[in-house]
Amino acid sequence: MPKWKNKGHEFDELGNYFKEHNEIVILGQDISDLSRIERKLEFLSKEGVKVRCERFNYLTYKLSQLFGKSLFGKNIIILIPEEDQRIMRRMSRISTFDTTKNLFSENRFFEKILPIFAVYVKDLVYFKDNSFLCTSVCNLNCEFCLNFTPYDKNKRHFSLEELKKNVDIFFNAVDMCGLFHISGGKPFLYPHLNELINYIFDNYKNKIFEIGLPTNGTIIPSDELLKTIKRCNVRMEIDDYTKAIPKLKNSFEKLKEKFKEFDITPVIHVTDQFIEMFPPRTKYGELGENALCCHYSECGASFRELINGKLSNCNYSSFATRAGLIEYNSDDYFDLNKFKPEMKTELVEFRLGYCAKGYSEFCKYCEGLPSINKYKSAGGKQIQGQLDLKKD
Ligand code: SF4
Repeated sequence: MPKWKNKGHEFDELGNYFKEHNEIVILGQDISDLSRIERKLEFLSKEGVKVRCERFNYLTYKLSQLFGKSLFGKNIIILIPEEDQRIMRRMSRISTFDTTKNLFSENRFFEKILPIFAVYVKDLVYFKDNSFLCTSVCNLNCEFCLNFTPYDKNKRHFSLEELKKNVDIFFNAVDMCGLFHISGGKPFLYPHLNELINYIFDNYKNKIFEIGLPTNGTIIPSDELLKTIKRCNVRMEIDDYTKAIPKLKNSFEKLKEKFKEFDITPVIHVTDQFIEMFPPRTKYGELGENALCCHYSECGASFRELINGKLSNCNYSSFATRAGLIEYNSDDYFDLNKFKPEMKTELVEFRLGYCAKGYSEFCKYCEGLPSINKYKSAGGKQIQGQLDLKKD
């Protein structure tokens, strides 16, 4: 259950195990996967954690040969690239290894385990990712927008000073963030985006593995902004709505050309379906506290939003608050303005899903992510004007 029962000590058992088992071996077939993971763990090696790569050629090696490479030392935890599931399956059959303690696949390790390892072994706060909005203004009006744009009567660009302060507060508490996601609304509509990216990169590049920036493919950024995106290694993500809105095809193709001109390789998400999170079909608010805790936990929403120096326990819940669908509820936030070093494990627990009530206020009105939500509609379906609130 995600409700705090022993705040600051929820992960003591695993954390204390890592204090004794803190040498990381990355075991995989492809050298590029090994070095990618090694780079993501550089912040730990710099602090003295032993991280090494062990190449395992699946076709020519036998597992027994790895014994000779001291892979089975007692301090070791093994990390397997996501691409090497066959190795993972073979290793998990060996009794020395336990997939809850010392043998992890890449995604699970970075999402759930590394934050615990980093804070218990090196007193460092690691977040896999974080969402951060620079504007709530958007040039589309998708009916099932996950920012709830059609309901938001106060869409606005946030002031640059306010955003810089937010970033400073965040990195005062967080030592390393895998993906720092600058989101919206539409970030390309934000007039100070260039300055904001430069500020984040120049001040915090040692605390961020990658800055992420999404776009809906409808706006062509300036050359100056594209140079900044290239300089700061920003991971560009384009949502491709052209199936639902064919008239976007032209601008989408132009944008791809423009990225090519600046040697930027975007990640393209074909968005042909939207989940229908709100309005809800079920009255979750009437199901009671335990059911709400289960709803939150089974949904597994893993993004958090940084807003006004506070971290939300679900980014969709803070988007809903901004859009006016629910009232602000302080239990749903970790206030980084009041952060002290002795709160590091609490912060990591919060980031991994623990919170005061065990759910988010918006869970009462939300159908959740695809893990629990079967309602879907055509992606990018546009509507006219403002939607009304129907919470009950
Ligand atoms: S049900 Fe909705 S509000 Fe609750 S955690 Fe999932 S996405 Fe967030």
